[in-house]
This record gives sequence, C-alpha cells and structure tokens, in this order.
Amino acid sequence: MSLSRTPIASQRLRRRRRTKIIATLGPASSTTEIITKLFQTGADVFRLNFSHGSHEDHAARIASIREIEKRFDRPIGILADVQGPKLRVGRFAAGKVHLTAGQAFRLDLNPTPGDVRRVNLPHPEIIAAAMVNTNLLLDDGKLRLRITHKRDDHLECEVVFGGPLSDRKGVNVPDVILPIPALTAKDRIDLDFALANGVDYIGLSFVQRPEDVIEAKEIADGRAWIMVKIEKPQALDNLDEIIRLSDAVMVARGDLGVELPPEEVPLAQKRIVRTARQMGKPVVVATQMLESMITAPAPTRAEASDVATAVFDGADAVMLSAETAAGQYPFEAVNIMDRIVARVEQDEGWRHITNASRPAPEGYSSDAIAAAAQQVAHTIGAPVIAAFTDSGGTVLRVARERPDCPIIGLTPRPETARRLAVVWGVHAVVTKEIDSFTDAAERSGEISRQEGFTQPGDQIVVTAGVPFRQSGGTNMLHVAKV
Ligand code: PGA
Ligand code: MN
Repeated sequence: MSLSRTPIASQRLRRRRRTKIIATLGPASSTTEIITKLFQTGADVFRLNFSHGSHEDHAARIASIREIEKRFDRPIGILADVQGPKLRVGRFAAGKVHLTAGQAFRLDLNPTPGDVRRVNLPHPEIIAAAMVNTNLLLDDGKLRLRITHKRDDHLECEVVFGGPLSDRKGVNVPDVILPIPALTAKDRIDLDFALANGVDYIGLSFVQRPEDVIEAKEIADGRAWIMVKIEKPQALDNLDEIIRLSDAVMVARGDLGVELPPEEVPLAQKRIVRTARQMGKPVVVATQMLESMITAPAPTRAEASDVATAVFDGADAVMLSAETAAGQYPFEAVNIMDRIVARVEQDEGWRHITNASRPAPEGYSSDAIAAAAQQVAHTIGAPVIAAFTDSGGTVLRVARERPDCPIIGLTPRPETARRLAVVWGVHAVVTKEIDSFTDAAERSGEISRQEGFTQPGDQIVVTAGVPFRQSGGTNMLHVAKV
C-alpha cells in the first residue's frame, strides 16, 4: 500500500508530545470506530495480545488499523504480543479450591481434575527443573507455595500464603532458569500469522536467555522488529546481551512484579530503561499504568505519578493493557495518559534531566552526526530535525540524543515509518527517495511545513547519507532554510 503524503492535506495530524502511547486492543476496543477514536485520542501503536482472541479477531483489527492509517495518512505501529511459555495449573473438579497456609499441596502430572490436596501441573520440564526449598507463585503471586519434596512426577509443597485457587491460574517459578525456550508451539503458529499479516513488532514474552532472542530474530528475518519483554529475573542477569540482540524492549512489569519483590521493580525499570537508551533501542514501560481506570473514569494520584516517572526515566513509550482492551473507559485512559505525558514534557526539570542523562555517542559516523544534529538544533533553536532513513537506524540514533525539537523521520519505506511510531520524538513521513543534496534540503523543508512543524523562514537541521540510495551511511548534516 502507499503511505505517501497527500500534498493538499491542510490539517495534518501530529502529536504534542515526544513519548509515545501504546494501546492494547481487546473486547472493549475491537471495532474500526473505537480504534479510530483511540488513534485520534493519542494511541500511536496498537498491541494485539495473542494470549486472547482468535486469528480472525486479530486479522480484523489489523485490517481496521491499516484502514485508519490510510484515512489519516499517518503510519501506525502494530505490536503482536505472543504469549510465550506462560505456565498454568490444570482444572479443579469443583472449579475452585481454597488453600490454607501450612497445609500440604501437590502439583503433579496427573490430568485428573484437582481438589484441595492436589492439582495437575502439565509441565514435566518445570517439575524436573524445580528445586526443593524454592517458591512457586500462583495466580499472579497471590498464593505462595514452598517446595518440600520433589519426585519425577510431582512436587510436594507447603502453602505459605493461601487463598482461593481456580482453574488454569498462572504459575510463576521465580528462582530457577527454566529449560524452556521463549517460543512455544502456539507462539510459532501465532508468529507466522502475525508476520504474514504485516505487523511491525513481535512482543517476545518470558525471554530468559540471549538464544531466545536470536531464534525469534531468525524467524522474523527482518519482517518485524523483535521487542523483548523483560519479565523474568533471569533476563535481568543477561540484560545487556539480550537488549543488544533485540530491536526494542518492554519493561513488562506485570510478570516481572510477580517474580521480583515489589521493592525491586522500580529499580529494575530504571535499569532496563537506562540500558536500552544507552544502546539506542526503543523501550516501553508497560502494565498497570492506569489500572484503576479499568472501572473508573479517572486515575489515582499514584498512577498519574507512575506515568510521569516513566516519562522522566526517558522511556520511548508508555503502554495501556486492560485499560483499553477490556476496561470501561478506554478513551479516557488514552486521554489522561496523553495529558500526563504532555504536561511532564513541558517541565523545565524534565528537560534538565533529559539533557543530563544523554548517553555519550558511540564510535560511528551516524552517532557523530546525530550528536551534532542535536547540538546544532539546540544552538540555532531549530523547530525540527529532519532525518532521512531507509531502515530507521539513523532516526534511532537521533532519537537517542533526545533533542529539544521533534524529529521528522523521512523514509521511502512504509514499514520503516510504521516501526518508528514507537520511537521517542519521531514523526515519520513516507516520501520518495531523495536523489540529490538539494532535493533533501528542499523536500525536508516542504514536508516540515506541510506537517505543521515549521513556518517559512525557519531554519531546520537535515541529516542524510551521501551518496544517496545507500543504507547505513549517514554522514551529512545541513542547516536548511524553509
Ligand atoms: P502480559 O505482559 O500482559 O502479556 O503478561 C506484560 C507484563 O507481564 O507486564
Ligand atoms: Mn507478562
């Protein structure tokens, strides 16, 4: 499809903030009308959660998003979040039991429905890898078991924190590296589907080891960015290498917060964001950001602070999950998120922190150009930096500088423009390839004006690679008059 500019468009859609918003789609947000309104309210990227919904549902949502993209002539990112090896207990004869602290409880390979003494854990490899005296967490950490004995076909446990336990609740094993890859058989099917349907990023759940990322990258083969979800303590042990191998990162605080003690989660968030920013990889802060808005039209003060903190940390994007997928107030949630982000970004203190946390350039010419672009734009007060890119790489390096002004990412490739939807500060526009230096200067001036970033007479900063039509060689920095 063509995503090229409509030359006569008078009122172009642009955001008033740098930090992007991801909205998860679900039963509360499945029609084209609702998705359109979420987009207009501020969602830059939509997330499809492959833990729920059929391929048919996801295909319909993808079609709606691409339709909206055409209608507004703006690239929109689509994140296909594959479930990964989410462990679950089996079913109970009564659907539900109540476990009491101090009692014994067995997890076994027997598929017979469970009772208050035992339940099926259909994962022999977990039973094999588990260790006596470590903990198992059930139902998002609400119940805690300590393993007392281990046999080939079952684990005998003592209930530490009891409570109700019902069919198919999740199991977390925080203390051991599980000998399971991040991609299950279902994930492979979902991945093929998502890639065939042209999504822009794959959310890779429960990554533990660098090899998990390597495998997913091989399958995607450049068709989508791999966004690793950091939600296992083991991933934190290999953080640098995992992020280096990936295209983008998510601080998946839902599962991470189950497996780590709560006091560790804020620090883990800061460390993950800092590491990703250092490497210039887009990073998303996710889960429970405005959780109370699932059932209320306004957030709590603590939630507003949480969103603000992610912006101060320098995340590329903040994410809504159940708030937009299944909540009663999806538009209000996007709207308040947009307002919180935009407000923080007007703050002097935020700019000060952003400048102070700018990582040093790495030893590439594209980094030298990106750093110089930031400095020149700052010095002359440029309203925008226009960066020509093929794969998006150069624009990522400019975004890594967190410049004062927005970045227009100019690319001949619609898929690059879509991927840039998740990147801090970037307004991507699809335009035909440039064929000369003059062309680059003129075209970026014209587009920045059309897109509402500049007035005639403004000076903008332009970066590109010369000679043209060659990927990976950004080496030109130019100040152009609009
Ligand atoms: P999920 O991932 O919503 O797919 O579990 C995000 C998280 O764990 O925070
Ligand atoms: Mn998760």
